[in-house]
Amino acid sequence: MSNIQVLRPKYRVEETLAEIKECLDIGWTGLGFKTQKFEEEWKKYTGHQFAHFLNSATSGLNLALNIFKKKFGWTSEAEIISTSLTFVSTNHAILNEQLTPVFADVDASLCLDPESVKKLINSRTKAVIFVGLGGNVGEYKKIRKICDDHGLILILDAAHMAGTKWKDTGKQVGDDADCVIYSYQAVKNCPSSDAGMICFPNEEEDTLARKLSWLGIDKTTFDRFNNGSYKWKYEVSDLGFKYHGNSIAAAISLVSLRYLDEDNAYRRHLAAAYDRSLEKFSAIGVVKHSDAIESSRHLYQICVEDRDRIVEMLAKDGIHCGVHYLPNHKFKIYEGYKADAQYVESVAEKLISLPLHLSITEADVGRVVASLGKIV
Ligand SMILES: *Cc1c(COP(=O)(O)O)cnc(C)c1O
Repeated sequence: MSNIQVLRPKYRVEETLAEIKECLDIGWTGLGFKTQKFEEEWKKYTGHQFAHFLNSATSGLNLALNIFKKKFGWTSEAEIISTSLTFVSTNHAILNEQLTPVFADVDASLCLDPESVKKLINSRTKAVIFVGLGGNVGEYKKIRKICDDHGLILILDAAHMAGTKWKDTGKQVGDDADCVIYSYQAVKNCPSSDAGMICFPNEEEDTLARKLSWLGIDKTTFDRFNNGSYKWKYEVSDLGFKYHGNSIAAAISLVSLRYLDEDNAYRRHLAAAYDRSLEKFSAIGVVKHSDAIESSRHLYQICVEDRDRIVEMLAKDGIHCGVHYLPNHKFKIYEGYKADAQYVESVAEKLISLPLHLSITEADVGRVVASLGKIV
């Protein structure tokens, strides 16, 4: 029997090649052209007023903290409340800007627990980074309220949330955050090769993000190329980064976006099949996604005792699972930072991400559940 991978991108090859070919035909693969097109499409799809295409979500997280730190004059004492149960990009961004991470606990949704966040707020607290784990939304609305009440910036790491929408309004989750960052990394649910998006709610920050993602230069090469003759003069006002995305990556994500709703619906269909067939196993806890959303369903996570053995046994049956994530506060680099992470510590030992992507079928879900049932 063939192997089942935990995550795997699906590309519409001919359609994607046609988008890429346009870049090669006109001789433009860089910033501008398809990156602008994708930004427009992304704004239309999500309702974000501004969107700037980047080479990764990691760059977006770094950029968000860089911009807020400058804007508000945060010092290295400034505390950023974050989750430990995330990909290290989320928290590295805090250290990269010489700010202080503080780890709050998560609740059963595996997203930040509002009670834990409240406990950790003090006069040094400046911002909260919320991660919608696996496409879930947890108590996001309560966290938004807490940030409002305490004058804190709310950054949404939406790396898993492309297409996660509120059921009542049909709107993408996060239009009320102070900055939202998406990932189009290859195994995320709206894949490119590697890319990301940063969405600020106002023009001033969007303009700054554009400048800083291109080394602090005030005009893009595409602007200079587009204005008839190539204008070689430019000004550099800030110390920026090489974070902007390119047209090839944008061409790939343009096609992924066309199918995003359809693909997410298929993910939810598989997740529902898992839900139904796992119900009868009392030894398996399922991480529920909120009823208030249509989840992007980037991940399907369960909790089991004796996790490592189960992952190994599943692999013997050709079923390859993942773990999202190892608690960041336990990594050497995060030693010594404040952490209220009791639930994170206990749940992280039990988590398994089961295979969920567009190349598996309901029959594959049946095979995973049968194998899992036999083991537990
Ligand atoms: C993947 C991921 C990132 C980083 O995304 P890249 O586009 O690969 O830089 C950030 N946060 C979370 C939660 C992720 O899963």
